[in-house]
Amino acid sequence: MGKPTGFLEFERKNNSTRSPLERIKDFSEFHPQLSKEDREQQGARCMNCGVPFCQSGMMLESGFTGCPLHNLIPEWNDEIYSHNWENALSRLLKTNNFPEFTGRVCPALCEAACTCGLDSDPVTIRENELAIIENGYKQGYIKPRIPKVRTDKRVAVIGSGPAGLTVADMLNQRGHNVTVYEKEDRVGGLLMYGIPNMKLDKKIVNRKARLMAHEGIRFIVNTDVGRDVSVQELMDNYDAIVLCCGAKQPRTLNVSGMDANGVYFAVDFLTSVTKSLLNSNLQDKKCVSASGKNVVVVGGGDTGNDCVGTCIRQGCNSVVQLEMMEPLPKTRSKNNPWPQWPKVLKTDYGQEEAIAVFGKDPRVYCTTVKNIIADESNNIKQIVTVELKWERNPETGRFSPVEIEGSEKVLDCDLLLIAAGFTGCEEYVSQEFEVETTERNCIKTGKGSYKTENPKVFAAGDARKGQSLVVWAIAEGRECAKEVDRFLMGYSNMI
Ligand SMILES: Cc1cc2nc3c(=O)[nH]c(=O)nc-3n(C[C@H](O)[C@H](O)[C@H](O)COP(=O)(O)OP(=O)(O)OC[C@H]3O[C@@H](n4cnc5c(N)ncnc54)[C@H](O)[C@@H]3O)c2cc1C
Ligand code: SF4
Repeated sequence: MGKPTGFLEFERKNNSTRSPLERIKDFSEFHPQLSKEDREQQGARCMNCGVPFCQSGMMLESGFTGCPLHNLIPEWNDEIYSHNWENALSRLLKTNNFPEFTGRVCPALCEAACTCGLDSDPVTIRENELAIIENGYKQGYIKPRIPKVRTDKRVAVIGSGPAGLTVADMLNQRGHNVTVYEKEDRVGGLLMYGIPNMKLDKKIVNRKARLMAHEGIRFIVNTDVGRDVSVQELMDNYDAIVLCCGAKQPRTLNVSGMDANGVYFAVDFLTSVTKSLLNSNLQDKKCVSASGKNVVVVGGGDTGNDCVGTCIRQGCNSVVQLEMMEPLPKTRSKNNPWPQWPKVLKTDYGQEEAIAVFGKDPRVYCTTVKNIIADESNNIKQIVTVELKWERNPETGRFSPVEIEGSEKVLDCDLLLIAAGFTGCEEYVSQEFEVETTERNCIKTGKGSYKTENPKVFAAGDARKGQSLVVWAIAEGRECAKEVDRFLMGYSNMI
């Protein structure tokens, strides 16, 4: 364990944060890490509580609590407190293929379940994880692990997001011959084109992809499976195929004017900005720009927040974020006790930046878009919003939004970004592979299994689960890889 009395002696100390007005001048990460000594002290706060809910990863009531990867959190906290950083790394990598990603972008389900958090501040688990892996790179502990023995089995992974990368990593380490197909020009899925650079620097994604290529994984980019390469060709050439294509089909708005110039889906917008940043440091002017524009983001969630942060960096004139739901409470409600995930209002980095620049929170609740107004050249100029109230249907018991008559308002808007969620996979992939989909338009697999009804086709990550989190994509990828290995070898020694 960490220091037995550490949680009484030391307060939680987070990585520092560049101020909002400073960090909006660039697209760089903005959380410089604590010194090693401070970090070891944070490890000391872990209290070896006997039942480490942090690593439990289980359903509790209607929500999930703890780390889905069952990361060995108390062990590595103890190792860093005891200055054994290399041991900490080895324990961390036992359960997590990509702590350099989760350490940056995971919402830290573990911390919400940390016993220290019951009546004080939880241990800085996510930042400790990040410090361990980054120290590993710095000290040269991370080296290519080239498998000594290869099987004769060939596996194709479709999609290079965290699920596809995990499947590829696991099966490559087992000795199988893995090829990853990616339709984008760079590897990483939403880690590359989705999550903005200030949250996850793309150098970090490239660093890991390079290492994996060195270890023997073949990456083929700019190749859309089902269009550029036929499914039959893959079926003929591989012993197993794993669909990790994500669930990026965006939910649209049922309003007129969606075809106006200046209306974009959030991921298309974010992708264009990251591409321009990586290709030309934003000099090629090829991205969608919010510069000087009045921006409205539809969707109050994390993707919407990423759009707010990006628009502010581009120098927008104003930004409003519309949310259909009511705001969450500021503190846990009685029916949402620890260690459940806290359903409370958080002000994320983009919203903090909007407050710093424009003096107010960009979020407007219980409001949606009713109509889009474009000029004679079909350029968006304004939107009509309407307020909503949530009414319970006495028959189904479910709440649904009802427009409040007369609450319409007109907002100036030159750029409308739709971050209203996702509706599953792109259909052509499931159609081409002739695999069934669920009612949520995700790829259907057997119960508790990653196998589709096509005997050598498997699925993992968002493509199977629906739009979720990086940590879940990794968890799915690990379990799926074991099943693929059993399928290929008749048994699996992967743990
Ligand atoms: C804007 C945004 C921000 C997010 N921020 C966070 C965050 O901060 N923290 C967090 O935990 N989660 C976050 N998420 C969610 C997280 O990124 C996803 O849950 C995760 O990336 C899913 O991984 P995946 O591998 O299943 O799919 P994806 O990451 O979507 O990758 C799928 C890949 O498959 C490729 N592909 C699809 N079809 C084909 C084909 N036919 N041929 C070849 N390639 C194909 C796609 O191009 C893509 O690269 C965010 C999501 C979005 C949209
Ligand atoms: S992966 Fe996420 S939930 Fe798991 S230990 Fe790391 S930060 Fe916590």
